[in-house]
Amino acid sequence: MSNVITAREAEELVRKGEKPPAGAILTPSARDVFNGGSLQPAFKKAGTAAAGGPGKKTAAPSIPDYEFRWTPGADAKTPSEIERFFNSPAINVLKDRMCDMGRRLWQRDYTDGNGGNITIRVGDNLALCTPTLICKGFMTPADMCLVDLDGNQLAGLRVRTSEAKTHFGIMKRQPNAKACVHAHPPHATAFAIANVDIPSCLIPEAEVFLGKIGVAKYQTPGTPANADEVGEIGKTHQAVLMQNHGVIVWGKDVEDAYWKMENIDSYCRTVWIAAGLGGGLHRFTGGQAKELINLRQKLGMPDPRANLKECELCDSAEFRPGAVCQTPSATPAAEQSDPQIEAVVSAITEQILKRLKG
Ligand SMILES: [Zn+2]
Repeated sequence: MSNVITAREAEELVRKGEKPPAGAILTPSARDVFNGGSLQPAFKKAGTAAAGGPGKKTAAPSIPDYEFRWTPGADAKTPSEIERFFNSPAINVLKDRMCDMGRRLWQRDYTDGNGGNITIRVGDNLALCTPTLICKGFMTPADMCLVDLDGNQLAGLRVRTSEAKTHFGIMKRQPNAKACVHAHPPHATAFAIANVDIPSCLIPEAEVFLGKIGVAKYQTPGTPANADEVGEIGKTHQAVLMQNHGVIVWGKDVEDAYWKMENIDSYCRTVWIAAGLGGGLHRFTGGQAKELINLRQKLGMPDPRANLKECELCDSAEFRPGAVCQTPSATPAAEQSDPQIEAVVSAITEQILKRLKG
């Protein structure tokens, strides 16, 4: 790995007026730096129209791009390459971002105790992950681990989370999954333990940014069976509800993935509140859903409903809003009075009294 130059290292060299060493491999963003580009985050051009009126050249509006891009076939391999890569400026930026996302998960009540975990893919067979037995709200960059996609630990002071293998079940099957976040957000997890399908066609943003929500059958967390089950569903679904467990989401970078965690829990909370209002849930039409799914695909996100007909969309009739809770009576059945029995008893008593009088 010693001959791979990252964007941060490239900037350092440019600052010193130096060129890349002979035979060095440049990551795509390092190449941009030597070509006069700027450092992370890279910025994607959002449009080509120049603002500022005629004759004035101003920078086009742009969107920050935090996706980590590695050079294929150039993973760190020897212990010294791994150590250098793990402590490189580009990786340290990602460790910081994992701590930020962990704090946001904990502050929003999506994790409790040591629950939840975060991974970012940083090579063909390399990923950063959070350690086991740690509160996600108070992690520091020094807590992060480097592992291969089979979960073997390569670097880091703490032991990696066992649930990382579930994340890699998705990453191995879906190359666009560059980061995964797992948590137990209460509203979405409530649907997972009540075994109630999350209805669709209710909020347009959910259709675009979450897409079809997948459901993975229950398997013991951290087992290969769970990684296979979740991986198969996650291949075509960016948000997966794990039965009796929680949620796993993926994105192109760690914040992109984290947003989906907020999206799904907010969606489930809103559906739950709406279902209790008593007016039923008003869905938009299959045709309208199709437009949103097309938009999602244009943004480069997968959706297993892409080939469905309009009439096959918005069909979550199995959703049961307004569940009724039945609580057992405090009075034992034998002591309960029944109006019918009471009426019969008083009628018989009345007849007996009449005969006695007669
Ligand atoms: Zn979990």
